[in-house]
Amino acid sequence: MTAKLIKGTEIREKILSEIEKEVKEIKEKHGQVPGLVTILIGANPASISYVTLKIKTANRLGFHEIQDDQPADISEEDLLALISKYNNDDSINGILVQLPLPKHINEKKILNAIDPDKDVDGFHPVNVGRLMIGGDEVKFPPCTPAGIQEMIVRSGVETSGAEVVVVGRSNIVGKPIANMMLQKGPGANSTVTIVHTRTKDLAAHCKRADILIVAAGVPGLVKPEWIKEGACVIDVGVNRVGEKISEKTGKKIAILRGDVDFDKAKEIAGSITPVPGGVGPMTITMLMKNTLKSLKFSLGIA
Ligand code: NAP
Repeated sequence: MTAKLIKGTEIREKILSEIEKEVKEIKEKHGQVPGLVTILIGANPASISYVTLKIKTANRLGFHEIQDDQPADISEEDLLALISKYNNDDSINGILVQLPLPKHINEKKILNAIDPDKDVDGFHPVNVGRLMIGGDEVKFPPCTPAGIQEMIVRSGVETSGAEVVVVGRSNIVGKPIANMMLQKGPGANSTVTIVHTRTKDLAAHCKRADILIVAAGVPGLVKPEWIKEGACVIDVGVNRVGEKISEKTGKKIAILRGDVDFDKAKEIAGSITPVPGGVGPMTITMLMKNTLKSLKFSLGIA
């Protein structure tokens, strides 16, 4: 059996065109577009490339985008003042502070200073609480887990009553996706198990999974014999395992591998995400969706 590929790149394009259409309609009817500010501190090359991609996507969708670059030695006080300025700016619906921050700045303090109603990353404790309660309480599901759920739903995998096993318990992937899948409602209603480094028999848990979501950051951790025949496998892991020369640009690029032994797993699974091109492209897409949602909340049309 060869699994159906769940391609993030294709799902992303569908969602982005839905957002683009909605942005145009809201602009015509209400004269407003989603406003997103990206605050970049310093010049970390990986952060610059993430921020550039976010800005490019926001511009493509017709958002009002502000790129606010600040020096690496900005004081915590000045950064808090900047966040307060955007919290009070009605043209801004989403505030994004690119992580990691320089060591002299308390990351938690900064993220907690963002107005929860503009926290489109969904990391503020208020939004974590809203996610836990579920249903109408949820405003901004965190972007990577939201992308994972969209991929599962849009590829037609039944989640109601499904055994979902999540490998990893981080605050940005494992815990929120587990929480989202167990909620009462469409795209969820699953029976969820979370496994981690202290789990006694990882293989036995994985083998029970109708939907296996792996976010460990360990290349090839999940062996093909741990996968149930026909399961849906979502590989969140992005691991740099070497470098190669790009055929397109002639430049050095990273060789990326997921947490699942893809080549063998695809012969057992019913559907599977590749790495790269799987979950990766979904994160920025869901960030854009949250920013649009934020504008809709402020207009009272969400
Ligand atoms: P993290 O904070 O390092 O958490 C990893 C989790 O996996 C921890 O809970 C850890 O358990 C568990 N784990 C690690 N090794 C394990 C093992 N051998 N057996 C069982 N559990 C194990 O990582 P993260 O931020 O969630 O990210 C996970 C992966 O997803 C990374 O490769 C990251 O690059 C990728 N990622 C991709 C995207 C995207 O594509 N957009 C977004 C976010 C993350 P303990 O808690 O017991 O230590």
